[in-house]
Amino acid sequence: MTDRYQQFSTSGVGRLLVKRLGLPNPEPLRRYKSGEPALTGPALVGGTGRLVDAIGAVLKSAGIEVLTTPAGGDTQKYGGLVFDATGITDPTQLRALYDFFHPVMRSIAPSGRVVVLGTPPESATAPGEIIAQRSLEGFTRSVGKELKRGATAQLVYVQPGAEDKVESTLRFLLSAKSAYVDGQVIRIGTHGGAVTEPENWNAPLAGKVALVTGASRGIGAAIAEVLARDGAHVIALDIPAQGADLAKVANKVGGSTFQLDVTAADAPAKLIEYLKTRHDGVDIVVHNAGITRDKTLANMKEGAWDSVLAVNLTSQLKVNDALLAEGVLREGGRIIGVSSIAGIAGNLGQTNYGTSKAAVIGMVNAYADEYAAKGITINAVAPGFIETQMTAAVPLFIREAGRRMNSMAQGGLPVDVAETIAWYASPASGAVNGNVVRVCGQSLLGA
Ligand code: NAD
Repeated sequence: MTDRYQQFSTSGVGRLLVKRLGLPNPEPLRRYKSGEPALTGPALVGGTGRLVDAIGAVLKSAGIEVLTTPAGGDTQKYGGLVFDATGITDPTQLRALYDFFHPVMRSIAPSGRVVVLGTPPESATAPGEIIAQRSLEGFTRSVGKELKRGATAQLVYVQPGAEDKVESTLRFLLSAKSAYVDGQVIRIGTHGGAVTEPENWNAPLAGKVALVTGASRGIGAAIAEVLARDGAHVIALDIPAQGADLAKVANKVGGSTFQLDVTAADAPAKLIEYLKTRHDGVDIVVHNAGITRDKTLANMKEGAWDSVLAVNLTSQLKVNDALLAEGVLREGGRIIGVSSIAGIAGNLGQTNYGTSKAAVIGMVNAYADEYAAKGITINAVAPGFIETQMTAAVPLFIREAGRRMNSMAQGGLPVDVAETIAWYASPASGAVNGNVVRVCGQSLLGA
C-alpha cells in the first residue's frame, strides 16, 4: 500500500530525475489536520453574480482571508481562487473567465483550490445562458488538468434560491478535506432536506448516529473514523468473519459493532430491529460494503455475477426500503452510496462490478426527489484508485497505471473518500442531494 515511486520522486535525486525526464510528479497532498487553517493563503474572489455576498460571508466564517483584487507582484500565492460565474448570461461574456484567471494561474499555492460557481444549465431559460453556463464544465475541468502541485478545480452549480445553502460545500472544497477531489461538478439545489448550520463546524455530526457497512478495514474503517471525529456515534457493520478487526475499529472510534452479512435474507429485518432497539433510529447510512469477483464476461461463473450484484446493489436497495418503511431513518437523514469510476467508465473484467456500481448511481437518481420530500438526501461518491488492500492486490502494471493516470499522478487515501462522505453527511448539506462526486484525482478513466 506504499507508493514507492512517490517516495522516490520526493527524494533529492528523484526530484532531479523527475524534472529532467518529465516523469509524473506526485506532489504530497495537504490533508486535513485539526487546528490548521483551511487554506495556506488568502482567497482571491472575482466575478459578478448573485453569489458574491454569500461567498464573502462563508469565507469570513471559515476564517479565510479574502482579496478582491490581485495582490500584485510575483510573490503572492493564493490559497484559493473563487469565481462567481452566475452573472455570465451569454457566451459573449465568457471572456470574464480568461480575464480573472489568466493573470493569476501561476500564483496558486501547492494544494490550492479553484472553485467556479454557476447556475445549473437546466435552471436557465434563455439559450445564451444555458450555453454559457454549460461551458463552465469544460473550463473548470481543463483548469483542473492544468493545475500543478496538488491544486484542484471544481464547478459548483447553485440553483437560484439556494444562495444561502452553499456553506458546507464551500468549506469542504476550500480546505484540505477535498485533497483528492478534482475536476468535479457539484449541484446545490432547492430540492433537498433542511440546511442546518452546526453549532460547531468541527463537530457537525454531534448527536447523530451513523451506520457504516464494511467498516472493518479499508475505506469503511476510514469513514468510521472521520464520522466519529465529526461527532457521530458510529455503528460499524461487517460480516462475522471480520469480527476482530471490526471490534478494533469500533473501539478506536468509541462506536458500536454490528456483525451482519448484508446479503442474508433476514438482514434488513435484523438491522431495523437493532437500530430501533439499541439506537432509537439512525441519521446517516453509508453503504460502503462492496466486493469484486473479476473475470471477463465470457469466463465469469454465475456465482461471481450474483454475489457482486447482491452485496454491491440489491442488499442496499432492500435496506433502504426497510429503513424508510419502518421510519427508522430520522428526519434530516442521509443515505450515501459508494460507487466507483468503474461504474462510470466500465472496466475490463468487471462487468459485474461495473453494473453494480453504475446501478448505485441509478439508485441516487431514482430516489433523490422522493427522499427529498421526506427531508432525506441521497448522494454517492465514486472513488478512483484508492490505496487499500483491494488495490494492493491489483497486478503491478495496472496498479501503476491507475495510480498515475490522473491529475494528481498518485492514488488517493481512504480518508479522502471518508471526508467527502462526511461533507454529504453534514446537517448543513441538506441542499446537496442527488450528487455523484468522484474522488479520483481527476482520473482519465471515464472523464
Ligand atoms: P475492502 O475489501 O477493503 O473492504 C470491504 C469491506 O466490506 C470488507 O470489510 C468486507 O468484509 C465488507 N463486506 C463484504 N461483503 C459484505 C457483506 N455481505 N456484508 C457486510 N460486509 C461485507 O474494500 P475497500 O477498498 O475498502 O472498498 C470499500 C468500498 O469502496 C467498496 O464498495 C468498493 O467497491 C469501493 N471502491 C473502492 C475503490 C478502491 O480503490 N479501493 C475504488 C472504487 C470503489
